[in-house]
Amino acid sequence: MNYRAVESAGEYVARLETGAEWRTEIETLADEVDADAAWFTALGAVQDAELWFYDQDECAYYPIEFDEPLEVASCVGNVSLLEGDRFAHTHAVLSDPDGTTYAGHLNEATVWAGEVHMRVFEEPLERAYDETTELDLWL
Ligand code: ZN
Repeated sequence: MNYRAVESAGEYVARLETGAEWRTEIETLADEVDADAAWFTALGAVQDAELWFYDQDECAYYPIEFDEPLEVASCVGNVSLLEGDRFAHTHAVLSDPDGTTYAGHLNEATVWAGEVHMRVFEEPLERAYDETTELDLWL
């Protein structure tokens, strides 16, 4: 395990723009408030979505695509630096009209409506390639 203390540098709430890309909106918020590290929760609805599932045997992501409106029942993630850019690592639980849920790593989605709470940290977080998992993990 690798851990550190973090100090809050402020908290923000934001409404995401209809038609915008969900994760890009969160990264834009991070850019606007100068967040090199943050934790966020969000909820709302999307018009489509692409979730990714990480296959641990193959060390590869597999996309799961949805071309339909879905609720964002829950969304959680964090912001850190990946190759110098702010990256919003985003996971989501999406639900359909039956209440059936789909969950995973949210790569992209088109916002219908979205509400975000972001807590920004003073200390930056950086990601780098990890040979064991073949993922970009925190240093
Ligand atoms: Zn993920």
